[in-house]
Amino acid sequence: MDCLFCKIVNGDIPSKKVLENDRVLVFHDIQPAAPVHVLIIPKKHMASMNDVMPEDLGLIADIHQAAQEAAKELGIADSGYRLINNCGRDGEQTVHHLHYHLLGGARLGALTGISSSHA
Ligand code: AMP
Ligand code: ZN
Repeated sequence: MDCLFCKIVNGDIPSKKVLENDRVLVFHDIQPAAPVHVLIIPKKHMASMNDVMPEDLGLIADIHQAAQEAAKELGIADSGYRLINNCGRDGEQTVHHLHYHLLGGARLGALTGISSSHA
């Protein structure tokens, strides 16, 4: 399948891995938006949050567990972090393989909502 994150899962494209198990992979974002910025993805391809089926809900729990572990591993568990899923056009999703951003390492500011470039 021609999917960037499936290629990362398969090892066809290199990534800086933080942790991995048989269901999820955590790796550093190539264009970090915060001092700590990693992506948490299910190894199974699903395009977006809209494609998560009831039978996949265990994977969502796995993703949250991986986020918790990665936050500890990366030293941001106590200082805090933000876990974000961008879905679809208005969510500014650019890679169509479900992923969550884990951001931390600095005060992130309030969520801003509509950006001036699209308002
Ligand atoms: P989104 O805008 O929510 O779809 O996020 C996609 C994220 O993937 C962006 O933050 C990109 O910087 C990141 N990204 C794109 N290509 C790579 C790559 N090869 N390795 C790591 N992160 C990537
Ligand atoms: Zn994929």
